[in-house]
Amino acid sequence: MACTRPPSAPRSAISNVNETSVFLEWIPPADTGGRKDVSYYIACKKCNSHSGLCEVCGGHVRYLPQQTGLKNTSVMMVDLLAHTNYTFEIEAVNGVSDQNPGARQFVSVNVTTNQAAPSPVSSVKKGKITKNSISLSWQEPDRPNGIILEYEIKYFEKDQEMSYTIIKSKETTITADGLKPGSAYVFQIRARTAAGYGGFSRRFEFETSPVSVAASSDQSQIPIIVVSVTVGVILLAVVIGFLLSGRRCGYSKAKQDPEEEKMHFHNGHIKLPGVRTYIDPHTYEDPNQAVHEFAKEIEASCITIERVIGAGEFGEVCSGRLKLQGKREFPVAIKTLKVGYTEKQRRDFLGEASIMGQFDHPNIIHLEGVVTKSKPVMIVTEYMENGSLDTFLKKNDGQFTVIQLVGMLRGIASGMKYLSDMGYVHRDLAARNILINSNLVCKVSDFGLSRVLEDDPEAAYTTRGGKIPIRWTAPEAIAFRKFTSASDVWSYGIVMWEVMSYGERPYWEMTNQDVIKAVEEGYRLPSPMDCPAALYQLMLDCWQKDRNSRPKFDEIVSMLDKLIRNPSSLKTLVNASSRVSNLLVEHSPVGSGAYRSVGEWLEAIKMGRYTEIFMENGYSSMDAVAQVTLEDLRRLGVTLVGHQKKIMSSLQEMKVQLVNGMVPL
Ligand code: AMP
Repeated sequence: MACTRPPSAPRSAISNVNETSVFLEWIPPADTGGRKDVSYYIACKKCNSHSGLCEVCGGHVRYLPQQTGLKNTSVMMVDLLAHTNYTFEIEAVNGVSDQNPGARQFVSVNVTTNQAAPSPVSSVKKGKITKNSISLSWQEPDRPNGIILEYEIKYFEKDQEMSYTIIKSKETTITADGLKPGSAYVFQIRARTAAGYGGFSRRFEFETSPVSVAASSDQSQIPIIVVSVTVGVILLAVVIGFLLSGRRCGYSKAKQDPEEEKMHFHNGHIKLPGVRTYIDPHTYEDPNQAVHEFAKEIEASCITIERVIGAGEFGEVCSGRLKLQGKREFPVAIKTLKVGYTEKQRRDFLGEASIMGQFDHPNIIHLEGVVTKSKPVMIVTEYMENGSLDTFLKKNDGQFTVIQLVGMLRGIASGMKYLSDMGYVHRDLAARNILINSNLVCKVSDFGLSRVLEDDPEAAYTTRGGKIPIRWTAPEAIAFRKFTSASDVWSYGIVMWEVMSYGERPYWEMTNQDVIKAVEEGYRLPSPMDCPAALYQLMLDCWQKDRNSRPKFDEIVSMLDKLIRNPSSLKTLVNASSRVSNLLVEHSPVGSGAYRSVGEWLEAIKMGRYTEIFMENGYSSMDAVAQVTLEDLRRLGVTLVGHQKKIMSSLQEMKVQLVNGMVPL
């Protein structure tokens, strides 16, 4: 046999720190030393951030699956200390490494464990002790680094560490009961914030009273879960799971199959560099191929589902967390496909991912990937804390500045510009299909094929058989299904109106038929209350009958940018009286029959408390009420914005219903 030699160092090591765990991954050495028995050894050093001095890590660090003899090119270290600098040296060894008098060949990785985790609890005091229980209290950690959500108390009978109990408590006191009399117990406590667990405290040892002492246990703590486990079993399960899965959390790479190349050509999608166009997944013979072309496959084990946040047509929408290899865990939304689906439902469900996966823009909901290889089938997207825009605005009526609202609209327009540049027509742009995150960034969502409209409760069947969300749709799209980016601009104008009126329903309770008729006759929605004139003008531009006269999305973005840069341009509001009188053009006065008296009307809208004031100020008939403006209301002492809104909306609604139309263009 030829001589062999120790391997060279492993290469390209990367780390991922998650609270007090570190995941390391590397690629095998360039030179295996001519042998096949390469394995890896991990050396762990804890380093002082000031002095730079390092010491070998203590026995508290656990290595999954193990520290030495690693065959895989990854390892996880858990139970590290929080806020601590560590250096990990990954050494490749083989059967002749022991013979090597030279320097060790390793690659090293420096990490600092999670800064945000709370520091360890440092002082624990014993309270009441009985023969079966020990009460403890402790102080919050010196550096909580956030709000402490709960404490985890781990305890076991001295020298019986293999079998421990964990109690969770929101208080800084607990009572461990069910203990053996006259026995020593070891306690360790750690705190958890939103960033995760801090390190465990040092061990505190206390003893229960001998049998003769009367027992009474203090029940002050709130144990959330009590889990008694055998460490060996857990470790074994974790290690087996790790080994069996034999894979890391991450995206599985698409095969570079020559067949796939052929399919591309077959589908006739020629991708020109720099010109990104949307590809309709329908053009794929095999929809599964489209999904895997545009969406990454995620291992189900990387996803933790936390709670249900909504209902989609195909199943529940949940929030949860995604942990991808080499990345920190982060929150995601997970759409699931309910069990018992048909092949068509699966195709339609994943169709949304095939579309979303083609987009990459800060104002388009970002697809993380799909789970198709296991059940349930899932679509994983970025998580938008504030949910859908219409509900969010209704909940926060009147709470934002005009600039904030325009900022939302700017985001939506920017996302729509991107979509129209890609050649994608949304067809169902509405505030309910926009998601908003905790930074008030709005993102366009709800992509689909035919199902978009099937799915939308707002969509109604037209005489031509299609299903269309009438109130948001341009007349040419309703009349002859001419859906274009220009019809998306019309819908965008409606979204502007929804945003500026904090989620008001466009055309209120008018029937779809009345909306179609009014719009066809040239009537348009009146300006929302307190709306800057420039914005209302932009809405009216979006609602031009001639679709070629409507602004393009890039023009809308530029215009909104200009308004944001020059906020004084937003100061001119649509004149309240002209707003109301616009509605009255050509039409009979309000009050002919809807309500018999002002009192009856105000009672009907639960504003009866103002009846007297109205009467005293000359608004004693419905005809007189029809002239009321916002300024009048303020003058009458109706100062609550919610009440002003209720009264003005009711007036508008009555007028709209009576005139069977809105603002004539
Ligand atoms: P959809 O089927 O897309 O209309 O989703 C149903 C509901 O789930 C939405 O109205 C939202 O309230 C919620 N939802 C969907 N996607 C997300 C997300 N990415 N982040 C937060 N909530 C979401």
